[in-house]
Amino acid sequence: MGALVLRCGKLFDGVADQLTGPVEILVDGDRIAEIGPSVRRPADAQTIDLSERTVSPGFIDTHVHLTMDAADLAQQTLQSSAAKALKGLNIARDYMRYGFTTLRDMGCADPEFPTVDLRNALAAGLVEGPRLIVAAHIISASAGHGDLRGFYAPRWNIPVSAIADDAGTIKALVRREHTFGSDWIKTTNTGGYFSPGDDPARVTWFDDEMTILAATARQLGMPVAVHTGAADGCKQAIRAGARSLEHAYLIDADALAMAKQAGIYLVPTMQMTQEDLHALHANTLPCQAVWKFGRDNAQILASQRLIAGSDVNIAYGTDCGMFPFSHGILEFQAMVAAGLAPIRALKTATSVAAELLGQHDIGVLAVDRHADIVAMPGDPLADISVTANVDFVMKSGVVYRSPTARQTT
Ligand SMILES: [Zn+2]
Repeated sequence: MGALVLRCGKLFDGVADQLTGPVEILVDGDRIAEIGPSVRRPADAQTIDLSERTVSPGFIDTHVHLTMDAADLAQQTLQSSAAKALKGLNIARDYMRYGFTTLRDMGCADPEFPTVDLRNALAAGLVEGPRLIVAAHIISASAGHGDLRGFYAPRWNIPVSAIADDAGTIKALVRREHTFGSDWIKTTNTGGYFSPGDDPARVTWFDDEMTILAATARQLGMPVAVHTGAADGCKQAIRAGARSLEHAYLIDADALAMAKQAGIYLVPTMQMTQEDLHALHANTLPCQAVWKFGRDNAQILASQRLIAGSDVNIAYGTDCGMFPFSHGILEFQAMVAAGLAPIRALKTATSVAAELLGQHDIGVLAVDRHADIVAMPGDPLADISVTANVDFVMKSGVVYRSPTARQTT
């Protein structure tokens, strides 16, 4: 593949507080070779004209479920592992069109490891799609958010939940994730909204259970992401050493201060709350979610404003799978509506998300980084909704979507 020169109108590099430009980027192979007002033109270089666009590092969604479909979760979890992986591949490829070049999958409901297989196929180049980082299963107490047995009659004992009620089993489940290739450990220490029989306002691990889970992960070098709702759950997860709090639906000021002190990351999934509010008012929310979300939605919105007003690390994550992937790009707008400055919202999906994931080759446009680059017409600092109009997508130097034909310089 020859070199490419991108002529960029405006540039968001992932870290600066302002846009710059006009500027050019020279992409050689899978890396950024040069950035400047005017870059070299290697003999075989082609030019792509993005002079009417704002260019950004590829977006990173740190919370998706490629193999879980909330619209029919009870039935869908019964599909074969291969069916889930193949459908997940299709979803991941399509999601990349919106600008998402890296995804962290936060758990499947399957006895095997379909998301690990999908990640490996993508990484090996067997199939095309975004780079994928995986927490394979959702380790939970029985009767917790990850216990999906309540969807089915007890006699079936369907093995789609990773549940434990004692220290030995918790350790074994964490170690099993490591054995079969999970990158992250995902757990839930409170209930959730779409799951049957649990409550986001209640903590479901005892302190010693959460601690042994995190300690086992730490021993294996695996970061821990915790689905959490109640403020007490947020605090328990921080004390145990979680790297990210997912949702943090009901977080309070004390827990936010603890999160800041610990230097950890929040993934507040704000668009999902908008989706759930819409469904609540349209009477389409699953019956097991109605009483919980109806009780909590005002408090969730208040907690999200608290998060937006704090200076804690916020990473972009959607929980797509629980709602359509076609709406995942709207998290930018939900964040700004909650009070985040547009520039901070852009950083959540680029440099900050890359830090959370420990992926130092992505999330920033700089020399020698991966050429994961997207572009959109307009100025996202003036109007954050233009993030929904990405029409140029490059991952590792390969163009997946482009508004213009290439021209030879
Ligand atoms: Zn989730």
